[in-house]
Amino acid sequence: MIDKAALLDQIAADILKKNVCPDLAKTAQRLVMGDGNPDADIIFIGEAPGKKEDETGLPFVGAAGKFLDQMLDAAGMERADVFITSIVKYRPPNNRDPSPAEKAAFLPYLLRQIEVIQPKIIAPLGRHGMEYFLPGVKIGDIHGQVQTIELDGKDIVVMPLFHPAAALYNGRLRQTLIDDFLKVPELISQINRLQK
Ligand code: URA
Repeated sequence: MIDKAALLDQIAADILKKNVCPDLAKTAQRLVMGDGNPDADIIFIGEAPGKKEDETGLPFVGAAGKFLDQMLDAAGMERADVFITSIVKYRPPNNRDPSPAEKAAFLPYLLRQIEVIQPKIIAPLGRHGMEYFLPGVKIGDIHGQVQTIELDGKDIVVMPLFHPAAALYNGRLRQTLIDDFLKVPELISQINRLQK
């Protein structure tokens, strides 16, 4: 049996050892690697930790995280069923957008997380989590539409979703995100049926 938890811990240790994004590391309180089931069928990929995440070391525990929890619940899922992370793993000062260099610096570690977890679906939450997997497209044009990409020589399904923080206070976007999110359980069942 592969000890996925140990492999995930090693990725965190490597980030610390290599001192990835030293400027962010200086201003952040904690490295926020992600949380959930290392055997999850789906990995959600956000942008970067915010204040609450920086304080707790856990992903999506602020207002956007509460909304994410509500959607998981509505879709019949729990955090323990999925894996949740972000592209950038230190909080940018004042929650500014992560820079291209910061996203590039953390990308290899996100790809290692995906390699360990081997999810069936990658669900980017917002454009920062999406851009590597679906370059050159706009989240507004493609949200909720199932895509297939090749990653590491294998086909994998990508389900782009709006970022819950963007949708939180925007009624129309909020309902769109909920509608997109509710497609996820059927998508997981479909893929599991096909791969049987
Ligand atoms: N927003 C993100 O993109 N990631 C988090 O972990 C929290 C908020």
